[in-house]
Amino acid sequence: MNIILLGPPGAGKGTQASRLEAERGMVQLSTGDMLRAAVKASTPVGLQAKAVMEAGQLVSDEIVSGIIGERLDQPDTARGVIFDGYPRTAAQAESLDRLLAERGRTLDHVIELHVDEDALVERITGRFTCAQCGEGYHDKFKQPKVAGTCDVCGSSEFKRRADDNEETVRTRMAEYRAKTAPILPIYEARGLVQRVDGMADIAHVTAAIEDILGR
Ligand SMILES: [Zn+2]
Repeated sequence: MNIILLGPPGAGKGTQASRLEAERGMVQLSTGDMLRAAVKASTPVGLQAKAVMEAGQLVSDEIVSGIIGERLDQPDTARGVIFDGYPRTAAQAESLDRLLAERGRTLDHVIELHVDEDALVERITGRFTCAQCGEGYHDKFKQPKVAGTCDVCGSSEFKRRADDNEETVRTRMAEYRAKTAPILPIYEARGLVQRVDGMADIAHVTAAIEDILGR
């Protein structure tokens, strides 16, 4: 079972990928991690990548494909992989098909954790935590029982993350759309794309993904 997992920041992609690793023995592969690991392990392609990066140049698609190929040949990927952040272009999507086919594997699903942008803004900008114990709250969904006092520790100090603001959320959504725009139509045409409501609670998202993958 090999899948591509797509979703903007805040959609819960990391949570779901970790769960698939734990429950199904799948391996999440992000190009950045694979590249660093290949360089560190001095694999043949890792050495090429290292030379390119030391020369201050960008790693080519060919090198990225080489690194993914090396990674797919490692036995821990036998139960399936979750591609994260790859492919980003039509050319990379073609390379991925070839890399999998060469190994007798297929791409089985492209799962997008879909979010409603306005709802995501509301979810993220409303978050705050107790400065003392870290308990999480939300302006709309989870106010302290006594206004201004933490339910858990009684502290009256709360904090918000600077990047939990509307502009940041909308910028990230726009970046996400730009990144996935080149590849979504390719996989849609092949009937591989399935959308899961990323705004649902974690258990529902998990169940929806399990339905797609088959139990
Ligand atoms: Zn507290």
